[in-house]
Amino acid sequence: MHGIPVSAGIAIGHAHLVSHARLEVAHYVVPQYQVAEESARFDAAVTAVRGELEEVRAEIPADAPQEFRAFLDLHLMILNDATLSKKPRQIIETEQCNADWALKVQTDALLAQFDEIDDGYLRERKADVIQVAERVMKALLGQPGHVPAPRSDSDQSLILVAHDLSPADVIQFKQHQFASFVTDLGGATSHTAIVARSLNIPSIVALHHARQLIRENELLIIDGTLGTIIVDPDTQALAEYKLRQHQWDLERQKLKRLRDTRAATLDRIEVDLQANIELPDDVSEVRENGATGIGLFRTEYLFLNRDDLPDEDEQFEAYRKVVREMDGLPVTIRTYDLGADKHINGIESPGTNPALGLRAIRLSLTEPQMFLVQLRAMLRASHYGRLKILIPMVMSLAEINQTLNYLAQAKQNLEDKYVPYDRNIEIGGMIEIPAAALALNTFIRKLDFLSIGTNDLIQYTLAIDRTNDTVSHLYDPLHPAVLNLVAHIIKTCNKAGKPIALCGEMAGDVQLTRLLLGFGLRQFSMHPACLLEVKQQVLRSNLREIAPQVNKMLRAEDPDKLRAMLARLNA
Ligand code: PEP
Ligand code: MG
Repeated sequence: MHGIPVSAGIAIGHAHLVSHARLEVAHYVVPQYQVAEESARFDAAVTAVRGELEEVRAEIPADAPQEFRAFLDLHLMILNDATLSKKPRQIIETEQCNADWALKVQTDALLAQFDEIDDGYLRERKADVIQVAERVMKALLGQPGHVPAPRSDSDQSLILVAHDLSPADVIQFKQHQFASFVTDLGGATSHTAIVARSLNIPSIVALHHARQLIRENELLIIDGTLGTIIVDPDTQALAEYKLRQHQWDLERQKLKRLRDTRAATLDRIEVDLQANIELPDDVSEVRENGATGIGLFRTEYLFLNRDDLPDEDEQFEAYRKVVREMDGLPVTIRTYDLGADKHINGIESPGTNPALGLRAIRLSLTEPQMFLVQLRAMLRASHYGRLKILIPMVMSLAEINQTLNYLAQAKQNLEDKYVPYDRNIEIGGMIEIPAAALALNTFIRKLDFLSIGTNDLIQYTLAIDRTNDTVSHLYDPLHPAVLNLVAHIIKTCNKAGKPIALCGEMAGDVQLTRLLLGFGLRQFSMHPACLLEVKQQVLRSNLREIAPQVNKMLRAEDPDKLRAMLARLNA
C-alpha cells in the first residue's frame, strides 16, 4: 500500500486497529449468549463515568464559581437520564450489536432531536450531551481516552492503523511507545502528521483503504521514508527491512555527534537552528538535539483532550517549566491557534470552512478573557528566562493593534499586583496568510520579529486544504508563487533589520535547507528530530556558491527545470 510519508524510518510490528471515538465506531454482531455480557459492559462504563463525575464534584473547592457545580450536576443528570443510560442497553438487546455501536446510534438520534429545538439555550446543551456521550465512549473503548493501552510486553512493535485521527488523538500517543502509525486520511502538513513527526516514529497518511484492508494483529513493515506498507511480508522482505532498519539506526546515531557543533556554513555564516514543541515535556528532546532555542511552542495542545480550560496558574507553570529548562535560551511561545482542526472539547467546528473561519488570533480577539489569561500567564513566565510571544495568523494592522492593547492590559493587571515580568518582552507575528506577506510593510514596524508559517502559507496561497488527502498531491512548497512569497518575506525583513524565522515544515526538510539559506534565511525552527540532519546540511553548504543558483530558481517557470535545479543545488 502507498501513502504520503510523514515521518521517516522503518518500523516492523503488528497491526492494531483504532477508532476515533465519535467518527468511527465499529459495528459488529454479538452472539445471543454474549448479549448480557455486552449490556453489562455498557453498564460498567456508565457507572465508571458516574464515579468520575461525582469524584470531580466532590473535589470542587469551596470558593469555586457556582457554575462549576451546576455544570457537573447537568452532566450527571444527562448521564442518569434513561435516554443515555438505558436506551443503548435496549439497542444492544434488540439489535444484538456491540455496546459502542448502540451508544453511537442513540447519541446520533439524540443530537438530531437537539437540532430541531427552537429554544437557543436548550439547543446549546447539545455540546453537553456530546461531552457526556464521549466520556462513556472513552470508558467503553478503554482509558486513557479512546487510545488503547498498549500491551506492555510488546509496546515497541505495535502499529496503529486508523481511518482518521485528529491532532488531539495523536497528542495522546506521546504517553505511549507505539512503533508507528498509519492513517487513511490526512495531508503531509496536517497537524496530525506534524505531531506524528514529533513522536519520531515512522508514519504514513493518506493510505485510503488501510483501515479496511489490514486485519488486527497482522504483521506489517512500515517504510516511513517512501510511504509504503508491506502487509504480511515473506521472510526475505522481513530480513531485508531488518537490515535497513539497523542501517537507519546507525545513521541516526552518527548524527548525534553533531549535537554541540555550532551550525555555520563553510563560509562561516552562522545559522540558528531552533525547535518546535507541542508540550512542555518535549523540551528534553529539544536539548538532546542541541537546538539553540524554541522557535515555536504550539500552546493550543494544552487545551485539548479535556473538558475544562487550563487556568492562568496551570498555563504559567507550563510556560515557566519550558523557559527554565531552556536555561537562558530563547523560547518563542505562540498564543493558542485553536479553531481550525484543533478544538476545545464539545465545541463544534466553526462553519463549513474552518481553516478560513474563527481561528487563531481571530478567535483570541473574540474571547478577550481567555486571551488575557494566556497573556498574563506568558508575561509571568517571562520573568524566569527569555520568553517571546508569537501571534498566529496575523493579517492586518488592526488585529495587531488590538493584540498590543490586550498585551498592555495584561501587563497593567500584573503591575497592579506587583507581579514581576520582563518589561522588554518581544512580540512577533506569524506570516501565514498571503495578504500579510504582501502587505508586510504596513505592520512590520509594530512587531519585534516575524516567523513564516509555511504550512498555512502554502495552504492559503495554493487553496489546498492541508488536511485533505484528496488534494494533498497538489500541496507544493516549490510552487513559484510560494517560493517568491517566502523569498519576498525574508528579503523585506532583512532589509528592514527585522528578525525573521521560518517555523513551518519546510524548515525541517533537508532538501530545502540550501534554498532557504540562499533566500537569506538565518533562523529555522523545526521538529527536534529533523534538527541534526539539517545542521549537517548547513555545515556542508557554501553560501557563496548557493546564492546565484537560488536567484535563478526564483525565475524558473518550468516545474521540472526547477526540480532539476534543486537537485543540482543539493548535489
Ligand atoms: C505553519 O502554519 O507553518 C505553522 C508553523 O503553524 P501550524 O502548523 O501550527 O499551523
Ligand atoms: Mg499555522
